[in-house]
Amino acid sequence: MEITTEIKTLATEAGFGASGYVLIDNLKFHQSVRDICAGNTCRNYGSSWACPPAIGTVAECMARVKQYGKMLLLSQAFEIEDSFDFDGMIEGMHEFKKTMDRFHLKINSILSDYLLLSNEGCGRCAVCTYPNEPCRSPQLLHHSLEGYGFIVSELAKEAGIRYNNGNNTVTYFGALLFNA
Ligand code: SF4
Repeated sequence: MEITTEIKTLATEAGFGASGYVLIDNLKFHQSVRDICAGNTCRNYGSSWACPPAIGTVAECMARVKQYGKMLLLSQAFEIEDSFDFDGMIEGMHEFKKTMDRFHLKINSILSDYLLLSNEGCGRCAVCTYPNEPCRSPQLLHHSLEGYGFIVSELAKEAGIRYNNGNNTVTYFGALLFNA
């Protein structure tokens, strides 16, 4: 089995509902997304090693991404009661992070050169060490996908997967960059 197919299979086994490859040359990095991060409506800006400014400038993120030859976009959808079901959204986010961790374990056995990006911030520890101490789990640190300046709906279109899975659902995204 080709490595690209094998990795998609591992993504499905980990729990992602959809995945699709994006051409690295087609990636767009938007400073405007980073500017939204700096507005800190998500309250992750400046509070985690997974988010800006800790992850570097958009240009530095772009240079990091372009070290890799392939990008697989990953998504998982969760049902919620309605668009005000914030508890359901948070529960889905926690489940998504578990899926990312399962996938991380799986790809670690077949890849040595890779980078994993995940929806929004980290949240692994009750209180992040940022900025006073190093990350407690750097080997499990997944940088924020949005923090790199990506418009996730653009990525989904490029990958050929759905950005929105319908009413009363929330969909979270991550990405694997790798050299095979
Ligand atoms: S693993 Fe812990 S210390 Fe590291 S970025 Fe996440 S919350 Fe912060």
